[in-house]
Amino acid sequence: MTNNSADAIVVGAGLAGLAAAAELGDRGKKVIVVDQEPAHFLGGQAFWSLGGLFMVDTPEQRRMGIKDSYDLALRDWMGSAQFDRDEDAWPRKWAEAYVEFAAGEMRPWLHDMGLRWFPIVGWAERGGSYADGHGNSVPRFHITWGTGPGVLEHFKRRVRDHVGNGLIELKFRHQVSHIIMQNSAAKGVSGEVLADDTAPHGAKTNRDEVGEFEFYAPAVIVTSGGIGGNFEMVRKSWPRDRLGEPPQDMVAGVPFHVDGRMIGISEKAGGHVINGDRMWHYTEGVRNWNPIWPSHGIRILPGPSSMWFDAEGNRLKPPCLPGFDTLGTLKEILKTGHEYSWFVLTQKVIKKEFALSGSEQNPDMTDGGWKEVLFQRILTGSKATAPVEAFKEHGEDFIVANTLTELVNGMNHLGGGLIDEAHLRAQIEARDYQIDNPFTKDAQMAAILAARNYRGDKLIRTAKPHKFLDPANGPLIAVKLHVLTRKTLGGLQTNLDSQMVGADGQVVPGLFAAGEVAGFGGGGYHGYNALEGSFLGGCIFSGRNAGRSRAVA
Ligand SMILES: Cc1cc2nc3c(=O)[nH]c(=O)nc-3n(C[C@H](O)[C@H](O)[C@H](O)COP(=O)(O)OP(=O)(O)OC[C@H]3O[C@@H](n4cnc5c(N)ncnc54)[C@H](O)[C@@H]3O)c2cc1C
Repeated sequence: MTNNSADAIVVGAGLAGLAAAAELGDRGKKVIVVDQEPAHFLGGQAFWSLGGLFMVDTPEQRRMGIKDSYDLALRDWMGSAQFDRDEDAWPRKWAEAYVEFAAGEMRPWLHDMGLRWFPIVGWAERGGSYADGHGNSVPRFHITWGTGPGVLEHFKRRVRDHVGNGLIELKFRHQVSHIIMQNSAAKGVSGEVLADDTAPHGAKTNRDEVGEFEFYAPAVIVTSGGIGGNFEMVRKSWPRDRLGEPPQDMVAGVPFHVDGRMIGISEKAGGHVINGDRMWHYTEGVRNWNPIWPSHGIRILPGPSSMWFDAEGNRLKPPCLPGFDTLGTLKEILKTGHEYSWFVLTQKVIKKEFALSGSEQNPDMTDGGWKEVLFQRILTGSKATAPVEAFKEHGEDFIVANTLTELVNGMNHLGGGLIDEAHLRAQIEARDYQIDNPFTKDAQMAAILAARNYRGDKLIRTAKPHKFLDPANGPLIAVKLHVLTRKTLGGLQTNLDSQMVGADGQVVPGLFAAGEVAGFGGGGYHGYNALEGSFLGGCIFSGRNAGRSRAVA
């Protein structure tokens, strides 16, 4: 390969870019992969991820007694996506294609590559409304052993093999600022070489320009990720008509490099962004007491038992239950005129139900195996995992107290005095009265009982119902929850070969997009709502499609 030309250029060495590059290398194509970050950031956001994959009708599900199928999954996907726009034509095709992949080739293909999954399948985004509405009818969140790094490892290996045989060249600290077009077709990219940076993995790096570059190829594949690290862009794209005003105070669930800059650059070259107002931000963010990137927040992946209150101490109404309906809950919280909410729970709940999203927050699954999981999660007495206990001890959003009076004092200190103890107590007492029978009129209690019918939840995810105000189940814990930015659901419109499709509906010759920048496929294959695990899954699928496209020279 000459050092500035190739068959294809991949912009962004995250999971989608690595998947595309690996496929191209397998087909003997010469590829230049450029990334603005240093070599030790290879893999982008996926490195930090929990490695959860949306898959359907797998051996892991069957072993847990879950009956799943392509039909059920497609119904769930469409009930969640609620596609209702003309521009949903390509996203809908991508959704159908992905569900087919997730129910068919995905697991055996990844298994052959070396990926393995934790045997208890997680039940994310349960919906909580009607059967034809949003949510997963059954557990589908397959956590990869090794979490995000465990997913990446295999794609990195494939790419490194091709670096070894001279087909792929990796260019770090190369920031693309322009897509070179000739006669309306992509011919390459240009930009700035950035100064070396030895910042810790994930931290903000410098943007000092020390040179320029131009690379040429007849195919340019943009895999530059989303916008979650750029609050200004998040606020600009915020769906005010559906969610109200964007919060002033947010925490960042993604690193600084998730800056959305390549989106405008791709539009200038003829790419067309659709569904930019669809996004996926979480309501259970806490400030990281040990931050890596600016405004670093961690998402709590909650089981169903924490009681959820708004800033004034009013219990949120169903289906706003922990882990049920992300955007529905976000809407309800913002409607209150406050930007945060509260979980109130017990030590028994935090022990069994709190997981923190992120590879570094789950060292047992990231670096260990069965033994570590057992020691970290089961054989810890009344304690939660070490990272959760560390948040309890050091996290500014956590209050631990032996009495409700003490807890409310802490909440009022942190939240500005909006909680009335008698009002909070009355709601918790009412809920505690529901414990005495194995049936109930309380919708959250009913959901908890239903969850425990799933063996996986009963084993590791849903605490046995107990009275919150009984000191034997304490101490009591309150957690102040912030809005945490994560994903864009919209993006660059693409066809099933990951070729960019312009505003006129025509393919832009030589231009491709995959992963989050393409709304994980088509420009928004989730529609309005995601079912979780479909982000990494979508990067793999759309990156693979780009790399396999016959349209690449
Ligand atoms: C903490 C956390 C937990 C998560 N857990 C899960 C999970 O369990 N399951 C799931 O499905 N999803 C999860 N996700 C989401 C998922 O990890 C991301 O959506 C996905 O990895 C995005 O991959 P990508 O390749 O599209 O983009 P990215 O990973 O963002 O990679 C894009 C790359 O492009 C580079 N780049 C951008 N602009 C330029 C430019 N102009 N020039 C050169 N380079 C550029 C960036 O530096 C970056 O390396 C999680 C995310 C986080 C942060």
